[in-house]
Amino acid sequence: MIKTLVTGALGRMGRETLKAVHNSKTLELCAAVDINPTTQTLGQIIGAELALPMHTELSKALEAAKPRVVVDFTRPDVVMTNLRLVLSKGIFAVVGTTGFSEADLQELDQLAKANDTAVLIAPNFSIGAILMMRYAAEAIKYLPKAEIIELHHDQKLDAPSGTAILTAKKMAEARGGYLKQGAEGEKELLIGARGAEYEGIHIHSVRLQGYVAHQEVIFGGLGETLTIRHDSISRESFMPGVVLACEKIVSQRGLVYGLDKLL
Ligand code: NAD
Repeated sequence: MIKTLVTGALGRMGRETLKAVHNSKTLELCAAVDINPTTQTLGQIIGAELALPMHTELSKALEAAKPRVVVDFTRPDVVMTNLRLVLSKGIFAVVGTTGFSEADLQELDQLAKANDTAVLIAPNFSIGAILMMRYAAEAIKYLPKAEIIELHHDQKLDAPSGTAILTAKKMAEARGGYLKQGAEGEKELLIGARGAEYEGIHIHSVRLQGYVAHQEVIFGGLGETLTIRHDSISRESFMPGVVLACEKIVSQRGLVYGLDKLL
């Protein structure tokens, strides 16, 4: 059994992860952390017989529980501080939190290698989303002009989503780099109308109550369009990927970017 700590445990993803880790046959839920204090025990939160307390400080929880793996579903503005602490202690990290820069990723790779450990950054843990990215990278070889629309709940802090950025990266790589899209000299009458841009691939972010995590990749050709769409309709969709990541990260070293690398 791999001793696993969950941080961001009272959030939407954290609560789902607590249940998934507890119900797994390979992982042992050893502690949970959330910066928000609660009077509930871990057992009460997930509705199980468990006498473990909730922690508000990661450093104290690491000392007390000595996990092998830490799963982080916190916030883009705190995740690097958490990971510096976790990796410097030689503990493995599985990260669903999004919002990393290229410089952050390089730092994490070096830190993990220096401490003989590994960190998985997975912008999306759902199997369907990974297939969507794979098929999009294949389709762009034949239909090189494409745009991405990603749709998320209205509490999401970063835009575009990590999944949209990773999809665009994979597509641009498969196509061989930049390609201008839209008319020569096109003009935005309202700023942002054409969305964000990665190597010429435009990305549009929708934030509305009612959504979980959804994405469409639309390809345009002569007299035709092709749409590849993925919908996470509940947060359970991410859990088989989270459990698999915890099992497999312990045999890796350095930064692993994207769950597909572990499949
Ligand atoms: P949320 O706001 O519901 O939960 C975040 C939790 O983290 C909160 O309970 C908050 O109190 C806690 N927190 C904040 N700072 C903390 C700290 N320093 N230490 C410990 N806990 C802290 O957010 P969410 O919807 O659960 O999403 C969390 C992250 O996961 C976001 O970055 C989101 O984009 C990402 N996400 C990733 C995937 C994926 O498949 N990779 C799927 C969904 C969401």
